Amino acid sequence: MTDVVRARHADSHLVTDKFDWLRDHVTGAVFVPGETGYAAECSTFNLLTPLTPPVVVGATGVADVEAAVRFASANEMPVAVRGAGHSQPHQASDAVLITLDRMTAVQIDEDSAVARIAGGARWGDVVDATAPLGLAAPVGSATTVGAIGYVLGGGQSPILGRAYGYASDYVTEFEVVTADGVRRTANEVENADLFQALKGSRGNFGVVTAMRIALLPVETLVAGGLYFPGNDAPRVIRAWRDWAAKLPDAATTSVSILRVAPMPHLPQVLRGQFVTAIRFAYAGPVGEAVEQFAPMRALGPAMLDTVEEVPFATATTMHYDPPTPVPFLERGMALSDFTDEAINALIKVDGPGSYSPLGNVEIRALGGALDRAPAPDANPGRGAAYQVVAVGRGTANDSPAVLTALDALEQALQPWREDRQPPNSMTPEQAGVDEVRRVYGPELFDRLATLKAKYDPDNLFRVNYNIPPAL
Ligand SMILES: Cc1cc2nc3c(=O)[nH]c(=O)nc-3n(C[C@H](O)[C@H](O)[C@H](O)COP(=O)(O)OP(=O)(O)OC[C@H]3O[C@@H](n4cnc5c(N)ncnc54)[C@H](O)[C@@H]3O)c2cc1C
Repeated sequence: MTDVVRARHADSHLVTDKFDWLRDHVTGAVFVPGETGYAAECSTFNLLTPLTPPVVVGATGVADVEAAVRFASANEMPVAVRGAGHSQPHQASDAVLITLDRMTAVQIDEDSAVARIAGGARWGDVVDATAPLGLAAPVGSATTVGAIGYVLGGGQSPILGRAYGYASDYVTEFEVVTADGVRRTANEVENADLFQALKGSRGNFGVVTAMRIALLPVETLVAGGLYFPGNDAPRVIRAWRDWAAKLPDAATTSVSILRVAPMPHLPQVLRGQFVTAIRFAYAGPVGEAVEQFAPMRALGPAMLDTVEEVPFATATTMHYDPPTPVPFLERGMALSDFTDEAINALIKVDGPGSYSPLGNVEIRALGGALDRAPAPDANPGRGAAYQVVAVGRGTANDSPAVLTALDALEQALQPWREDRQPPNSMTPEQAGVDEVRRVYGPELFDRLATLKAKYDPDNLFRVNYNIPPAL
């Protein structure tokens, strides 16, 4: 620690001298602006949100993370963390950025069906390791997402969510470097308060270098999408709403209005089309799934029907999320209800004739096991009925119209909007403390702020949806 303090006193020297301490004490890469490798190290999945820290540490293991955190603390700099880079609400312009791309190991204990997943592993890495063993995890719509970044926001699976609940429910242990630069184990016995706080608080409590998560015995499931013309949105969405409300928990489903980009990973019939999509996944007997899905198939001829029994790994691609980084703008919220009036409001701003520039407005039916509250964790989203995810392309040409459309959508759905929402659905314009407090609710927010004062009293981990320490 003495060494680190000396680094702070090097402030009078060139900034690069100051960062030499890091180069000497980490085995991974250290880059400052202008160096070859800096831009790639600071890139994210959203091409609109590159990070601009004064220094970035590409950690290779726990010791590197500890050194970077101690350095930041001694130099009174915040710590920013990039896993797979899908949600960075700030630029990290005054922070020590720690990237985890070199920490992606996934180890499976087949006997206990538990995976140990390193801090920077993507869900794709996990699925590659678990699927051949007939095991699964409640992954999100994109396997490019960081497994730990996802779980720290609860992790709401549009494939297995209603059947199995939030992904964080299955975490049995975190290994986390806290603000004092010390690696801690957090589980139900050891640092139990930290264990609970990590599940939903989105990186506020430290750098998670690994987690253990119980896997699910899901080898195949009935899953896919049913695609109708976009002009059918009003009747399809109403029918979906009525049908989804009566489904058993084994079914997880959403409805989307899509203006599909002509991207090569998409089925030809959808490319460039205006579409209404019903996504459906059923974790139960095939016959039961087919029977449950029949009312949607009866809605009329579809452009494409991919709902069938598939291996779990195939189901993880059913949302056709982009496989490589793209520029995008997004908005997320939860709704208490999806009444006829709410559907009309949605159709008005995003349906046929609206000429909305949004690529995807998806309404996910929540409930089922997502409402289960196994322990007092940090997830305010339980109990919300629907989640809205809206995304538009963020190219220089598209951005102004997309932002206007996102605002219009938010405004239109305001009467049904809940204060709470699943943490992962928060988007950058919600990163202010008042908004974070609104989403978590005063009780949970204050509980987390008290724990923050215990584990991160100087608010080192504030380059996120920040919960400042209680005074
Ligand atoms: C295309 C797409 C699809 C998505 N689908 C879903 C979905 O279906 N369900 C769902 O719940 N969410 C979904 N999300 C949201 C996603 O789960 C969150 O944005 C998640 O935080 C991304 O993690 P990341 O590592 O990819 O991103 P990053 O931007 O690297 O991390 C996001 C945040 O988590 C923190 N963080 C990440 N890793 C660590 C770590 N190891 N230790 C400490 N802090 C860390 C970072 O500080 C940052 O604040 C989706 C997002 C996108 C862009």
